[in-house]
Amino acid sequence: MIFRGALILAVSMGIALISFHTASAQVKLPVVIPAVLPETQPEAKCLTPLEARLIQEGFVNVRTLDPALMVDLKYAKTDNFMGANVYGDFNCAYLRPEAALKLAEASRIIRSRYPHLRILVADALRPRSIQDKMWKLVVNTPRQRYVANPASGSMHNFGAAVDVTLYDITAGKPLDMGTPIDHFGPLAQPALETGYLLSGLLSESHLINRAILRNAMCDAGWHSLRIEWWHFDAFPTEHVRQTYTIIE
Ligand SMILES: [Zn+2]
Repeated sequence: MIFRGALILAVSMGIALISFHTASAQVKLPVVIPAVLPETQPEAKCLTPLEARLIQEGFVNVRTLDPALMVDLKYAKTDNFMGANVYGDFNCAYLRPEAALKLAEASRIIRSRYPHLRILVADALRPRSIQDKMWKLVVNTPRQRYVANPASGSMHNFGAAVDVTLYDITAGKPLDMGTPIDHFGPLAQPALETGYLLSGLLSESHLINRAILRNAMCDAGWHSLRIEWWHFDAFPTEHVRQTYTIIE
């Protein structure tokens, strides 16, 4: 799988350079495939030991299935509920192949219904080693209840869950869902949305935006969560725990 992943990257880079050189054919520059990807390539920062291991174990970078999927991992930055980057240089969205296909289908559905919208992935496969880091940052604090204990693992640790929102490429920003991703409070709970609309704490557009996301994801076979509008499981929890293993 490492070889196949490297081959895909090499081929994609080769094509880019060949087309560039074709545009300036009179110069007759040699076609060279660089060993290092340029900074403009979103995959440039993905070549970490973690990614190499995931590819070897058969997991799929979702952008290889659909480059229209946008990826900006919430926990690879400090702008999250922990105020810490627990991913280091890793900023790619990997899933089990079956889940990756479902996400590509959701992306296709969104683009067919709303051509100006894209799915933005804020988290996907999260190895238990990362879950350990998150747990240690919140254990014995009020935030502990919002992070799954790595002993049992979360669906992210199985490579079978995603945190997603919608990005408006015309406006150049994500849709307003009423709360940020990883807002751990009642306003984030889909089960309470109607009540918050009546009380004015959520607007009609918040509910519409969430429904657009939820409808596309569920139509592609994902399962929504009652307490987080951004979280979706690829399969029922029992199925995941009986079928798959945690990625360490
Ligand atoms: Zn999640």
